[in-house]
Amino acid sequence: MDKFTTGREAALALRPDRPVYGFRPSVLAQDTRAFLDAFRGQTAYAVKTNGEDMVLKTISEAGVKAFDVASPAEFAAARLADPAAAQFYMHPVKAQSDIRLALETYGIRHMAVDHEDEIAKILRIVRAMDLDPADITLFVRIATKGHAAYELSKKFGAAAKHAVELVERIDRIGFRCGIAFHVGSQVEDLSTYERALASAAWVRGRAAADIAALDIGGGFPARYGHDPKRKAPPPVPAVGELVRDIQTEIDEWGLDDLPLIAEPGRVIVARSLSVIVRVLLKKGQRIYINDGIWSSLSDAWTGKMTLPARLIPDPARRRRGASTKLTPFRVCGATCDSVDILSRPFWLPEHVDTGDWIEIGHIGAYSLSLRTRFNGFYPDEFVEIATAYEDEDTGEEGYATVETRGGMAAE
Ligand SMILES: *Cc1c(COP(=O)(O)O)cnc(C)c1O
Repeated sequence: MDKFTTGREAALALRPDRPVYGFRPSVLAQDTRAFLDAFRGQTAYAVKTNGEDMVLKTISEAGVKAFDVASPAEFAAARLADPAAAQFYMHPVKAQSDIRLALETYGIRHMAVDHEDEIAKILRIVRAMDLDPADITLFVRIATKGHAAYELSKKFGAAAKHAVELVERIDRIGFRCGIAFHVGSQVEDLSTYERALASAAWVRGRAAADIAALDIGGGFPARYGHDPKRKAPPPVPAVGELVRDIQTEIDEWGLDDLPLIAEPGRVIVARSLSVIVRVLLKKGQRIYINDGIWSSLSDAWTGKMTLPARLIPDPARRRRGASTKLTPFRVCGATCDSVDILSRPFWLPEHVDTGDWIEIGHIGAYSLSLRTRFNGFYPDEFVEIATAYEDEDTGEEGYATVETRGGMAAE
């Protein structure tokens, strides 16, 4: 992988016509360690957020010893990164063949369920393999409600009363039983975790069974940009602060005796990647770029994030407008699909023009993993960059959006 000090240096050296990802391993290691330092339990990185080999390797070398996985491809990726790491198979609805593969080939002993038929499915395979259920922990995933960029409780999770029945059933069979929740993604307020912990405590209090562990899922927010024309939203809490507050809540709900697991994704990887895109055409207040929602930017589109973006003017363009006033541009993606327009504008100096580059920062979460080959576009070129996106000295160009504040309204 070619190495550069900054994204700007990479753009000017390569003059890329296709999107190029700027991978920042030192930032990734730093954000990984920040989470590990803050959380007193076991950190299981959520592989779906970004499952690239180089990402998993960097995270593993920074000290993560467990992965949250959901499919055979993720079992394999996690094993490749660290054969000794524990794997938590936390998808509540699994194929029978995948359960067998998990138990037999990958030695996975932690799984999530939210329905009795899923327990029955796992039990059949455990019996057929002649395993002792006491060696396996089944986590009952409880439903949660709150504000997240992605509300996942609509899809998974047992209501509290049902969760009590599931816990007792798991215990009667002889499995070890855990409680798990996942509040969604980019959760900026502590109260969402508080409510989930209250449900977990309620379920534990009602169930006539021992609870072996508590898994608090992911959802910890990353920092993005914000629209300079709107009132600045409250800053996204630093991960250390939020995790500390959650741990205090855990203690207050009397759950402090339980071994803890967390499954962070976004907060660990968001800052570790940028993408350098090119302006293919400027048409009034619109710019057409060579990337879009079907390539690297689908998460920003779904979650309505304002991504930080920085203009890198093409020095070969001798004549351009004089105005460097920050102006909102509607961003149209590379494909012919008319939904391929970002839901938030990019704030760029007004003189942006055809042929310029834009480095879009903080796209490490849910960008590479959600790329499609739609319309034949599939960005897959990488360079390594030493400087954190927000630490680059931008000189005259300025930021299109301001860093270090969360800009995303809860849905
Ligand atoms: C997606 C997912 C995560 C990671 O979520 P982030 O918001 O990226 O932290 C963790 N746990 C489960 C069960 C998930 O589905």
